[in-house]
Amino acid sequence: MAFQRRGKPTKKKRKRSKRATEQAKCRFCRSKVKEIDYKDVATLHRLLSAQGKMFSRKRSGNCARHQRASALAVKRARQMALLPFVG
Ligand SMILES: [Zn+2]
Repeated sequence: MAFQRRGKPTKKKRKRSKRATEQAKCRFCRSKVKEIDYKDVATLHRLLSAQGKMFSRKRSGNCARHQRASALAVKRARQMALLPFVG
């Protein structure tokens, strides 16, 4: 009786190493920012994609605390028409 494999063949999982560009600390921690200003559009623009969507923590490199604070700042800036909702 021949050995039969059931299901899909398992793929080997590769461990992803941290990218060389990835920083140990988030940008706001490094510059010791306590509050993220919603009027500071230049800083907030770096956290947005071309469509105006916010980048994830992984993409932006922010820590949890500053990601929450920057999300709030982006939402406030959108309400004040400093940043687009879409586009
Ligand atoms: Zn931080």
